[in-house]
Amino acid sequence: MEDEERILELIMSREHGILQNELWREAKIDRRKCSRIVDRLEKDGEINREQELNKGLRTYRIKYIERKETVKDFKLLMVDDMFAPCTGCNLECTPAQCVPLSEWIFGLLNEE
Ligand code: SF4
Repeated sequence: MEDEERILELIMSREHGILQNELWREAKIDRRKCSRIVDRLEKDGEINREQELNKGLRTYRIKYIERKETVKDFKLLMVDDMFAPCTGCNLECTPAQCVPLSEWIFGLLNEE
């Protein structure tokens, strides 16, 4: 687990990703073990890999997949006691003419 964390931190630290053949050297880890860890991280959706040529050799550029923050504070979706109307809505959607959405937006504008 310690190796996996180190590898993930290395990948995350590179804005433009890191080549797989640099990764195992920088992590000071066996190439095959590094490859297994990278496979696992890719399956878990933590990283993606794109094939790339480096000095005539085929390797992969590995990048961390940024996760969008989920809304943790549901109060942000509330206006008075009205939850954001689009959440879970299955009505025929015409936002410009939607009464629930209009009421929610007016409530939002009237909040202090
Ligand atoms: S705009 Fe209105 S109809 Fe469209 S998803 Fe939101 S609440 Fe539903």
